Amino acid sequence: MVRGFKLSRRRKKNRRAHHKFAPPLLSICPRCDQPKLPHRICGNCGFYGEEKIVDMKKL
Ligand SMILES: [Zn+2]
Repeated sequence: MVRGFKLSRRRKKNRRAHHKFAPPLLSICPRCDQPKLPHRICGNCGFYGEEKIVDMKKL
């Protein structure tokens, strides 16, 4: 293995400082306008897209 160049500790830590936090993955439910996780059913109304997946009144 050949390194092109050596990164100093400062450079290595500085680079990693940028990928500590993931961006907040939230989308807005089109039915109830509540924030929800994308590609998941809405935790508020139980709909995914146009389909009702979970009846929230039963739970
Ligand atoms: Zn919803």
